[in-house]
Amino acid sequence: MPAADTGYAKPTSLADALALRAQRPHATVVAGGTDVMVAVNEGRRGLDQVIDVSDVAELGGWDLDGDRIRIGAALSLTRIVEELSGHLPGLAAAARLVGSPPIRHRATLGGNIGTASPAGDTLPPMLAGGAIIEVASVRGVRHVPGEEFFLAPGRSALAPDELITAVHAGTGAGEAFAKTGTRQAMVISVAAAAVRIHPARRRLGVALGSVAPTPRRARTAESFGDATLDWSGGTMPDQRWWAELGRRAAADAAPIDDVRGTADHRLRVVAVLVARCARRAWAQCWNR
Ligand SMILES: Cc1cc2nc3c(=O)[nH]c(=O)nc-3n(C[C@H](O)[C@H](O)[C@H](O)COP(=O)(O)OP(=O)(O)OC[C@H]3O[C@@H](n4cnc5c(N)ncnc54)[C@H](O)[C@@H]3O)c2cc1C
Repeated sequence: MPAADTGYAKPTSLADALALRAQRPHATVVAGGTDVMVAVNEGRRGLDQVIDVSDVAELGGWDLDGDRIRIGAALSLTRIVEELSGHLPGLAAAARLVGSPPIRHRATLGGNIGTASPAGDTLPPMLAGGAIIEVASVRGVRHVPGEEFFLAPGRSALAPDELITAVHAGTGAGEAFAKTGTRQAMVISVAAAAVRIHPARRRLGVALGSVAPTPRRARTAESFGDATLDWSGGTMPDQRWWAELGRRAAADAAPIDDVRGTADHRLRVVAVLVARCARRAWAQCWNR
């Protein structure tokens, strides 16, 4: 195991990483560093004690087991786009819209979760799909439902001695993600939405980003969809139905005014994004 008294440690096994984390609960954990380095440059974080998890073998890959997939926390967003688009099209679409190619090359899924920003783009697809976040410490492993993980802007259910180790998600659904920002690329979302439609389970998942203190599921919209979609026949809903779904999703949002947009703008935009994503996800399911 790397010496605990040096400032920078780069463990290569999960056991070593967890032991270091237990010894240094106040150390800065770094994966791709694309959020951490911004915080360091702005003086919000120090680099006195660093645990770099980017080489931890167990965090780096993904596994498919039937219709369940386990994604290691240190998998880069580029790899999610390149390798998981077929299994998790919503998550891959969100990963594709993060930053720029160099950012996506470094940035990891676990880092997006660890930052716990209401604007984290990969978070709504995970919530819409009912993903489970796996965290571990020397005390053991916990599986936290995505919707219970994010507590407030920048705050999550992760304990000081824990690391995010993986995300567990289901495959085989129609999925879509969309976001808007103040420009086309390299932009923090002003509003974002993800929709997942699973005809075999008769389940509509809707989640929103940048319109509440945390990413959140739009439960009113989900109940409306579960109850009224034509699950057996696959009839495409009409324009009014999609608009109603969007309106109900907006009712689940609690946005604020900030420098990037007003609350009113966010409510209008997120309704449109939900309707658009749902139409796309439904079309994927029924090949239309
Ligand atoms: C120019 C630029 C553009 C960006 N654009 C976007 C965008 O469009 N959308 C978006 O959502 N984000 C964007 N980001 C933010 C950032 O790239 C993402 O949040 C990214 O996923 C962070 O991953 P990382 O591996 O670099 O995280 P890091 O910076 O390494 O870590 C981020 C946080 O997570 C913690 N952490 C990392 N891994 C673990 C782990 N395994 N266990 C516990 N804690 C962990 C760290 O301690 C830290 O608090 C952008 C950043 C930059 C600099």
